[in-house]
Amino acid sequence: MTHPLVIVGTGLAGYNLAREFRKLDSQTPLVLITADDGRSYSKPMLSTGFSKNKDADGLSMAEPGQMAEQLNAEIHTHTRITSIEPELNRLWMGDVCLTYRDLVLALGAEVIRLPIAGEATDRVFSVNDLEDYARFREALEGKQKVLLLGAGLIGCEFANDLMLGGYQVELVAPSDQVMPGLIHPAAAAAVQGALEKMGARFHLGRVLASLKKDGAGLEAELSDGSRIACDLVLSAVGLRPRIELAAHAELSVNRGIVVDRLLKTSHNNIYALGDCAEVDGINLLYVMPLMACVRALAQTLSGNNTEVKYGPMPVTVKTPACPLVVAMPAANAEGNWRVEGQDADIKAVFHGLDEAVLGYVLTGTCVLEKAALNRQLPAVLA
Ligand SMILES: Cc1cc2nc3c(=O)[nH]c(=O)nc-3n(C[C@H](O)[C@H](O)[C@H](O)COP(=O)(O)OP(=O)(O)OC[C@H]3O[C@@H](n4cnc5c(N)ncnc54)[C@H](O)[C@@H]3O)c2cc1C
Repeated sequence: MTHPLVIVGTGLAGYNLAREFRKLDSQTPLVLITADDGRSYSKPMLSTGFSKNKDADGLSMAEPGQMAEQLNAEIHTHTRITSIEPELNRLWMGDVCLTYRDLVLALGAEVIRLPIAGEATDRVFSVNDLEDYARFREALEGKQKVLLLGAGLIGCEFANDLMLGGYQVELVAPSDQVMPGLIHPAAAAAVQGALEKMGARFHLGRVLASLKKDGAGLEAELSDGSRIACDLVLSAVGLRPRIELAAHAELSVNRGIVVDRLLKTSHNNIYALGDCAEVDGINLLYVMPLMACVRALAQTLSGNNTEVKYGPMPVTVKTPACPLVVAMPAANAEGNWRVEGQDADIKAVFHGLDEAVLGYVLTGTCVLEKAALNRQLPAVLA
C-alpha cells in the first residue's frame, strides 16, 4: 500500500504546493488537512475587502470539494492535527491516526493576542483567515468606528481599507512611527500623513489599557489615561509562526520551524514552508518567498531534490492613500540610509559600505523607481 503525501494547511502554501506537485506527479495519493473550512482564497485580499466591497463568500475562490476534485486529493476540513510521531511516520487528529509517506507542514502563523482588561474583550477581533473576516464583517454591520490596535503593515492596510469602506478609524500603537522596523521614519511619516488626511487618528506611543461597554458602543482607555469611543476593536499587533506541533514532535524550531534549503525539517521526511517555516535562518511572512518554496518543494517531493533560492523580495504595501514599496536590507547589513524627497514622495535607499544598493523604501510617486532599484538589489537567499 502506498502511503499518501500529507500536507497540513490549505492556505496559499498548502494549496499551491498541492497544485505544483500534481503537475509533476498525478499518481501518489495526496491528503490535505486543515483546521479551517478549506475554502481556497488569497489572504492578501483580506485587507482590501471593504474597499472592494467583498464579503467572505466574495473572496472565496473555490470550495474544498472543488479543490479536492481539481487536485485529485482527499481534503479534511475543520480537522486539527494534534500530534506527530516522526519515527513512525504517523500523525494524529485527536484519536484518529494517519500514516504518511512524506509530511508537509504549511501551518501558517497565528495572531498574537494581547491581554486586555475590561468586560468588553469579546468585541476585540483579529483577521487572519476567511472565517475571521466573515465574523468581523458581520460584527461591523451597522457600526461606524473601529479602534485598530497596531500600526504595522497589516494595521495600516486595514486602516486604509476600512476608511475606503466608509468607516472611521483610530489607531493605537506603542511605537513612535507606523511600521517600525520595516520602513524608514521619513516614509513612515508619509504614510501616516496620508492616512490622517483620509481621517485616521493616530495614538502612537500608547497601548490599550482597558475596554469597557458604554451603552451600545465601547469605551477604550489608553495607557496615558485618554479615552476613545468606538464600536469595535480590530487587533493587528503581529503574527507568530505556528511551531508548537513541530516542537512537541521534537523537530528543530526557532522563530519558525527550522528547515534547510530543501525545506526539510530536522526529520528526514517532514518538510515545512510558508509563514510557519524558517528557511535557512529566514522567516518571511509574504507570498513571494512562499511561492519560491512551493516550486522547489514540489520538485523535491517528486524525486528531484531542489534547493530553494530567493531573489530580491520587495513588498508592495496596500495603502493606496500613500503607495508604498519596501525591500528591507538584511538584518545584519552594514551601511547607511540616504533619503530624498518630501511629504508623500519619499525615496530612502540603504547603501552598503561599498555603495551597493541593499534595500529601499519608496512612497508616493517615488514608487515608480522600484523596477530600477530592484535590478540592483542582492538576492535574499542566493
Ligand atoms: C491581512 C493580511 C494581508 C496580507 N497582505 C499581503 C500582501 O499584500 N503581500 C504579501 O506578500 N503577503 C501578504 N500577507 C501575508 C500572506 O498572506 C501570508 O504570508 C500567506 O498567506 C501565508 O500562507 P500560509 O499558507 O503559510 O498560511 P495560512 O494561510 O495561515 O494557512 C495556514 C493553514 O494551516 C492550517 N492549520 C494551522 N494549524 C493547524 C493544525 N494544527 N491542524 C490542521 N491545520 C492547521 C490552517 O487552518 C490553514 O489552513 C498578508 C497577510 C494578512 C493577514
